Amino acid sequence: MKTKERSWLKQTVKEAQNLSIYDVGETIEGLAGRLKREPSEILKLNSNENFFVSKELLRNLLDEVNGEIDPRIYPRDEKTEFIEALSKYVKVPPDQIVTGTGSDQLIDLISRAFLKHGDLALIVTPTFSMYERCVKTLGAELISVPLRKDFSLDIENVLENGSGAKLLFLCSPNNPTANQFEKETIRRLIDEFDGLVVVDEAYAEFAEKTITPLVEKSENLVILRTFSKAFGIAGLRLGYAVSCYDLASTISQRFQMPYVTTLIALKMGVKLLERIDVFREAIAKLKAEREVMIKRLNGMEGVNAFDSQTNFVLVELERSSAEVYRTLLNRGIVVRDLGRILHLENCLRVTVAPPEMTDRFITEFGGVLNERDG
Ligand code: PMP
Repeated sequence: MKTKERSWLKQTVKEAQNLSIYDVGETIEGLAGRLKREPSEILKLNSNENFFVSKELLRNLLDEVNGEIDPRIYPRDEKTEFIEALSKYVKVPPDQIVTGTGSDQLIDLISRAFLKHGDLALIVTPTFSMYERCVKTLGAELISVPLRKDFSLDIENVLENGSGAKLLFLCSPNNPTANQFEKETIRRLIDEFDGLVVVDEAYAEFAEKTITPLVEKSENLVILRTFSKAFGIAGLRLGYAVSCYDLASTISQRFQMPYVTTLIALKMGVKLLERIDVFREAIAKLKAEREVMIKRLNGMEGVNAFDSQTNFVLVELERSSAEVYRTLLNRGIVVRDLGRILHLENCLRVTVAPPEMTDRFITEFGGVLNERDG
């Protein structure tokens, strides 16, 4: 039998090779095996997960969830219950909330809903890489406008370059610069930008403010939030978007899959919100530890740690960040090597973790920096 040609399929696969890969790095098991250490000895400070939230508490709550669910049934009432609880937490009406499988999935969904091949989208760089990936996968054009050297938004430049663009992704507080943009600046962008403004507030709970109240009066604003950071359930994949009613109902009813979040994640979400005080306490501890960590890092020779409104710290080095990253990795400490960020040649991003983890990081980091100097 003659085999079919399917040249379009080959061509599509070939073209996809040009898209960027989201590099999640080596697995902990893989790294531990390579270093001949136990996985529990690896210090994972590269993905901004939240180790201030007790694993035991989460496991106990999961046990409770386990006893309450019927996995044979699609999640419907659970979604309504979760959205109602969330509505009280974010102070936005339930019909203005859309749930997703983490905020990653909502970034993808919103890109697909509002961008077509050849359309223009804008990002402000450096920022979270997922926006670029989602825009480019659709064959839309991406314009990148750099932040100013002090990490502030160059609003005139954004508006000028964004003329005719359909989507603007803004991450606030921004990954990886860790700063939050002024509310007034964002409000002006929403007013003056031609298209839809998507503000990713994945780290908002670690900052001083949120712009969620702005959805009341903005027809072109979507805010993305997640349970991966402040609530520490990155592994369960639970995120949400808030916006005006028209956008929320369109996204949820026309574009989102009806059962995209699992029963387990939705039930856990409700239980976590019922214990909000526990999480507020964990966030307060994280913020205090963040200040200690920044101070300790800034006390080190050749290190410049920036202020942070997130659960990670951007660190500029005089030494090669790639080299320091590799040496730390070989000692079982995983951070994120960012290389060049704007005018800063050598940068790392490090998750803020509880004191015992940070102590080990600081000690090993100091050791690595001194090693070559000596
Ligand atoms: N937005 C930003 C800015 C992030 O840094 C991340 C994760 N690192 C996400 C979204 C994705 O989060 P989620 O786990 O909710 O998909």
